[in-house]
Amino acid sequence: MTRRPQSLTTLIAYLKKLPGIGERTAERLAFWLLKAPEDDVVGLAGAIAHIKEAIRFCPECGGLTEEVPCAFCSDPKRDASVVCVVEAPDDLYAIERTGVFNGHYHVLQGVIAPLDGIGPEDLHIGPLEERCRSGRVREVILATSPTTEGEATALYLARRLEPLGVGVTRIARGVPMGGDIQYADKMTLGKAIEGRTALRKTKEDREGARDVGER
Ligand SMILES: [Zn+2]
Repeated sequence: MTRRPQSLTTLIAYLKKLPGIGERTAERLAFWLLKAPEDDVVGLAGAIAHIKEAIRFCPECGGLTEEVPCAFCSDPKRDASVVCVVEAPDDLYAIERTGVFNGHYHVLQGVIAPLDGIGPEDLHIGPLEERCRSGRVREVILATSPTTEGEATALYLARRLEPLGVGVTRIARGVPMGGDIQYADKMTLGKAIEGRTALRKTKEDREGARDVGER
């Protein structure tokens, strides 16, 4: 093994912890950083350290934010009567990029995954129920990924929210099965949001009123 300076070895070891970064890429990045202008390197190190102290979860929706409540929850131009439920903050930004949704969001911080020991109690579900109980929410769109866990989580939520009298819809299958919401292209994801269908209907809907997905 070549004798690298300890500080370089330490940097490579940290870079290798990043997703998708192997030994060779970590080495290449470390050497790139060595050659980069000092301002860029100090700026990068500062930005990395800063996210840990500046970014927190919005207590209302569970999304990432620097202010409380977040920019989505506090925006009076957004429709608070429709809440789109996603697994992770990246999914929220993916849906936002489609430009077809102007309601509020709710981030679960994961999905129910019994094999990984993740149950409903580990997810950000209580605050979602509170929002539904407040009477402000008319429709909840379940936009968890169309994976086994994502589907199971959507069904679980549909059952749990039903007694609260809100309409529950599921995004349509425009998104490929087994895929991740955040990797779907803008058009596909936008169509999936527009073509969502009812999983559970509100009491009024069951009594003969229009479908919750139709406006
Ligand atoms: Zn929020």
